[in-house]
Amino acid sequence: MRVIEMTSEPAVAGDRDTVGGWPVLDAGQSWPECTCGRRMALFFQIDVPADVAVFGGEHLLVFQCPVHNDAAFGPARLPERYWETPLGGNDTAFWRILRHRGDVVAAEPDPTLQPLRLVLREAGPDDEWEFRVGGEPDWIQGPEEHTCACGAALEFLAQVPEDFGFPKRPEAPEQIDCFDSDAYGLFLGNMVYLLACPRRCDAAAAWPVNQN
Ligand SMILES: [Zn+2]
Ligand SMILES: [Zn+2]
Repeated sequence: MRVIEMTSEPAVAGDRDTVGGWPVLDAGQSWPECTCGRRMALFFQIDVPADVAVFGGEHLLVFQCPVHNDAAFGPARLPERYWETPLGGNDTAFWRILRHRGDVVAAEPDPTLQPLRLVLREAGPDDEWEFRVGGEPDWIQGPEEHTCACGAALEFLAQVPEDFGFPKRPEAPEQIDCFDSDAYGLFLGNMVYLLACPRRCDAAAAWPVNQN
């Protein structure tokens, strides 16, 4: 397990561990759009360290619509193409989690969040409730399981703490329903457990469990 730390160092095109910045996409993969038609904001991307079980060596990107901000709820057995289907009372499919092994750097940076470098460090014994990748989840409300539409049990990949603020660019509007006027949060600031499909049935086959 690695703890993911945000630095104050600006990210540049080609950086692979960032908040905001230039998404590194797979060949032929386009920048995800919300069902409202807006291009989603890149909250963060990282290279999953090679020694992380199941997902090591993949590039992970987490996007959310700059305007649509809600909690994610879905059934234990997820339906076909659940990542682009509004579920659980949501009006839009407003988030996207991508994994791939490509290296196509987008032409422009994300316009909403400050491009900042992330660093990954080995977790110590006191690291609980951290922003992290790999290892075991720290469940607040007990384990929650989901089965991918392909039939595989989703497996834990990463965790984002409650009320974790991703600093916004000064010129970007304040995020709707956010806990911080200078930052954007994922899923209303819920704790986020990213679960992903070990079969890789689709680059977007992943689910964000929300708890608080
Ligand atoms: Zn939207
Ligand atoms: Zn799957």
